[in-house]
Amino acid sequence: MLNIALFGPPGAGKGTQSEFLIQKYKLYYISTGDILRKEIEQISELGLQAKNIIEAGGLAPDEIIVQIIEKTIKENPDVKGFLFDGFPRTYIQAYILEGLMIKLNTSLNCLISLEVDEEESVKRLLLRGETSGRKDDNEIVIRKRLIEYEQKTRPVLQFYKERGIYVAVNGLQSIEKVSEDIDLIVQNELSKSLFNIVLFGYPGSGRGSQGKALARKYGLEFVATGPMLDQEIKKQSPLGKQIKSLYENGQLVPDHLVVQLIEKKLEESKGVKGFIFKGFPRTLVQSYILDGLLKKHGSAISMVIDIEVPTLELIQRLDDRSKTDHCMPYDNSTAKIVKRLQEHENKTVPVIHKYNQLHGVTKIDGQGSFEEVFERVSKEVEEGIKRMR
Ligand code: AMP
Repeated sequence: MLNIALFGPPGAGKGTQSEFLIQKYKLYYISTGDILRKEIEQISELGLQAKNIIEAGGLAPDEIIVQIIEKTIKENPDVKGFLFDGFPRTYIQAYILEGLMIKLNTSLNCLISLEVDEEESVKRLLLRGETSGRKDDNEIVIRKRLIEYEQKTRPVLQFYKERGIYVAVNGLQSIEKVSEDIDLIVQNELSKSLFNIVLFGYPGSGRGSQGKALARKYGLEFVATGPMLDQEIKKQSPLGKQIKSLYENGQLVPDHLVVQLIEKKLEESKGVKGFIFKGFPRTLVQSYILDGLLKKHGSAISMVIDIEVPTLELIQRLDDRSKTDHCMPYDNSTAKIVKRLQEHENKTVPVIHKYNQLHGVTKIDGQGSFEEVFERVSKEVEEGIKRMR
């Protein structure tokens, strides 16, 4: 998701600038001012509670704002992101926003502050008052709104400065120039967001070769835990030695060792556009670990793909592979092949179900040549990238 808050005193141009952002980035627009005005017009309970305060230029109570925002977010669960205009306006609202973002498993990307001095604000609002029909666009109320801004809203900037997501734009420039500056900021944000794919499929479905090819084509880092474990053994690192002795005793590699490897990989892969995970997560526990690891890097899963191949064809493919140089130590007997298919069925299929509920899983028909499957999967990945940008 891409979540942006437009910040600035009344008359800074937040509403005007919102228009191109909504159009270009298809964000869901939440203007607490607009919502409150609608509530007042409809003479709703909320509207009645807020009317007098708003018309006198004061800020509506945080309790009302939280209800409005929570309701709007809940009613729009599948949006690409939110554009907040006029929220957060108090320190408490900044915390409310944090909490709401956590609930959605996302975060605010940036707070764009349109910097305009007081006299310019007054001038613009008086001009707007000639046509807006807004009761609060007259000089006495405007001055009161600006005092509220200075006392309660401006201090909110510090909250975002400390989090490193505050960006200032000179709001005195022409509308077009301000839009250009904002657009650059948003583009920069988008380039920071990683595109992360989790690639599933039964052993023999081709997820390894497809994953590697996808990584090359789209500039993603391929993260396959199996080969990573083998590499540690070859390097004879302390971790490799532990893994080797576990293998030799026929034991599974425990999650805390796998996590160390993935964490290292995420940290070392600076400048990539995202990751493709293959062979991880294999269990529900690992799926929680992956969420946590990505969150720590300010990121999340963007897409989940499952390559489907009928069981008989899987067995055929694995059996064929066992007779070639590509034979893996775990492919060399029917009993081992069946065991791996069962492990996938019992432990990994529940993870796919979980992701299906959370993010939706893109199913790919894995039958046919490598190129045919690659074309199908590439098409879906491109759609996914388009949806995100
Ligand atoms: P706006 O349309 O953003 O200029 O908001 C108009 C008026 O609605 C403000 O002067 C406040 O009285 C009220 N209002 C809008 N958003 C908020 C908010 N986040 N917190 C408190 N009051 C708000």
